[in-house]
Amino acid sequence: MSTRTIDSLYRSSGLRIEPGLPICQVDLPFDWYQEEFKPYAEEYLALPDRTPESVLPWMDRYLKPALAEFGPRVLLLAHYYMGGEIVKLVERYGGRIADSYELALQARSNTQAEFIVESAVHFMADAIATLAHPHQQVFITNPRAGCTLEMFAKEHHVAPAYEELRARYGDQLMVIAYMNTSGRVKALAGASGGAVCTSGNAKKVMAWALQQGKKLLFVPDRNLAEVTCWWSGIPPEQQFQWGGGEEGARQQIARMSSAERERLDRARVIRWGSSCGVHTVFRVDLVDYWRARGYRVLVHPESPLPVVQAADGAGSTKYLWAAVEAAQPGDKLAIATEGHFVRNARALARQKGVDVVHLADVPDPAYQSIGCGCATMARNDPPHLVALIDLLRKGKVPDANRVVAGDVVDEISGVRERLGADERATLVADARRALERMVEITERG
Ligand code: SF4
Repeated sequence: MSTRTIDSLYRSSGLRIEPGLPICQVDLPFDWYQEEFKPYAEEYLALPDRTPESVLPWMDRYLKPALAEFGPRVLLLAHYYMGGEIVKLVERYGGRIADSYELALQARSNTQAEFIVESAVHFMADAIATLAHPHQQVFITNPRAGCTLEMFAKEHHVAPAYEELRARYGDQLMVIAYMNTSGRVKALAGASGGAVCTSGNAKKVMAWALQQGKKLLFVPDRNLAEVTCWWSGIPPEQQFQWGGGEEGARQQIARMSSAERERLDRARVIRWGSSCGVHTVFRVDLVDYWRARGYRVLVHPESPLPVVQAADGAGSTKYLWAAVEAAQPGDKLAIATEGHFVRNARALARQKGVDVVHLADVPDPAYQSIGCGCATMARNDPPHLVALIDLLRKGKVPDANRVVAGDVVDEISGVRERLGADERATLVADARRALERMVEITERG
């Protein structure tokens, strides 16, 4: 698998740190920090105003010597959805911002990096660790940063449903795992002959799977599954809605009505029942509101299908960011995705006279809507980044922050359950196969 092309596609976000801007929108409660991180949080919270003027010298004091010592052996990564100004800070210290597809490939394409430090959510760190070389170690700045979409499609939810369906359909069943899944669910996809997908390549991956005459279990996002079916021309009567979370784990074919069983037998795509709270707030009337005011509406495909159908365009984080970069002075864009992303996009757009609004932030109270950021991803803040790097330099990073492929993380406590070496080797091989299939399908063009 060549990752050279992918890496060369990487570009800076184009965002600038401006004087006076608040570094974080919300301070995390002090007792949410791990014990080892509390001294750093204490220092950070004592900084006056926490604007770049006070935060940057504090961060420099820790990060500059540590990063100079590590050189290219350390690689900082963050996702576009990161809260506060972490996106800008990570870039300021030589790190990279990317969507989940590019993040997953960073370890593999940066062989000189021995320590990869990710400021985002666990499933992204897990994917990086799955594709990492043996000499590379992956760390997450906050192990409590999980994804709610993934939390309703844990292995203990999906595996019983997979067994239930496999007992009926045998090898015809194939799992397509969205990137927002744990390594263990990606391994299930790999073992079934399936692949991982992202919002940017879901259509290609679905086409590849259906061409083989497979019946798909698409996990976990019901909206993305429905949107991808629409893009692929698969009508609703060839889709089946399975439950999500515990409900999905308990669902039994024998207890279905005969009509339901017939629909399941007819279905080419079985949609798992999770959805992301950040993306389900979008509605068609919000699309109409902004369009009537001259805005072009662009949405993420984790939004409900009617919203995607009503919009002017839909695509991944990368697609949305590229649209903002390509916008001309005077253009107006209403974007439906995660709130911090839109805030960052607005900052980028302002630099060139483009107006960007969040689709759900309609200033008319009659619409009763408000967009929100990904609260779990925003659990990564400057003290988490500073502490992780400083502790790494001292050789004292807590084990909870070290990401080994296949770990199961409790997002409340941050405690991780780790597989033994043999079991992990099998799981990683299956999960890697599913990720590599995605890359092959995507890069094929
Ligand atoms: S925005 Fe939604 S899907 Fe994306 S990481 Fe956050 S909870 Fe998960």
